[in-house]
Amino acid sequence: MNIIDSKRIWLSSPHMGGTEQKFVKEAFDTNWVAPLGPNVNGFESDLETYLGENVHAAALSSGTASLHLGLKLLDVGVDDEVLCQSFTFAASANPIVYLGAKPVFIDSERDTWNICPQQLEIAIKDRIAKGKKPKAIIAVHLYGMPYNIEAVHNIASEYRIPILEDSAEALGSSYQGIKCGTFGDISILSFNGNKIITTSGGGSLISKNKEHRDKAIFWATQSRDNAPHYEHSEIGYNYRMSNITAGIGRGQMEVLEPHVNNRRSNFEFYKKNLEDSSEIKFLEEPSGYYSNRWLTCIETSSYQLREAIRLSLAEENIESRPLWKPMHQQAVFADCDAYLNGISDDLFDRGLCLPSGSNLEEDDLYRIVSVIKNVLR
Ligand SMILES: *Cc1c(COP(=O)(O)O)cnc(C)c1O
Repeated sequence: MNIIDSKRIWLSSPHMGGTEQKFVKEAFDTNWVAPLGPNVNGFESDLETYLGENVHAAALSSGTASLHLGLKLLDVGVDDEVLCQSFTFAASANPIVYLGAKPVFIDSERDTWNICPQQLEIAIKDRIAKGKKPKAIIAVHLYGMPYNIEAVHNIASEYRIPILEDSAEALGSSYQGIKCGTFGDISILSFNGNKIITTSGGGSLISKNKEHRDKAIFWATQSRDNAPHYEHSEIGYNYRMSNITAGIGRGQMEVLEPHVNNRRSNFEFYKKNLEDSSEIKFLEEPSGYYSNRWLTCIETSSYQLREAIRLSLAEENIESRPLWKPMHQQAVFADCDAYLNGISDDLFDRGLCLPSGSNLEEDDLYRIVSVIKNVLR
């Protein structure tokens, strides 16, 4: 096939369910074209109903903004240290720097690819021995796979360090039947264009503590004190979600389950068609873990094979991407301390994300698999 006549296959593209425009039209018809309105409240209530567990949701402009306010709620400030999973997207760590605090990176474990409980405990003990107790832990459910909730939360509570759960990639995932996005002292979701559901751009801060939610909304709407004029006793932000994008979110919530099912079927399709090769491995769900399979990732036997597959897919107009480059390898974080075991470096070397959208068609999947099989042959 030739790049000109073959349809582009994206890694993960927006997938509308059909009712989004109805909610957006309602917003126009009633002139609620503002960072507040019925869709914002409705979307928050949809999220709360879906997540259960008595959580409160604040709809914000992005997952990154939600992380920023989440860290602020956990009282992270100048010169504090925050332990952060190294194997993640930079948006998990950047808000630490916004607050003048310092990230300290923690490597991953093999079973989930997420924060390694052993390295986490080593790091906590070492930071305390060096005279500074970490202010918070950022744990990430990467690619939708839950991190080891039990081990990580046991360590956090033993040392009384709060957890900010980065569930940006994990809406629809669960651990022991409990939904991701409800485990952290504070949790965040993202509705960016490539995520499980999208509002074109957006995020949410989730907490079981209603005061957290109310404070996040206060900060997100410029910290306006209760007065007839504009009165401010705190620095504010313009981080609220708009009523238009929230309308898209309400429509998307109606198709969350089918989206998760489609992504899980993509994973099953790839696995069924490629697992015979000894050169390719898939990340299995440990017992009790349920991943939304946001992206299907493969672990190839070598960097060379990974690149050969990636370049062959690109030649056929198919987007694929190496796994996240760990934060401890990023130039911007070069001066940060890190507790490493080599696992995320290895995954970054050999891993590849395959097209995983909930709108992929069977023909697309066959096309992708046949390119990969050709490389393996
Ligand atoms: C997408 C993402 C974010 C940031 O969310 P935005 O809505 O894009 O700001 C944070 N963490 C992880 C792990 C993500 O994948």
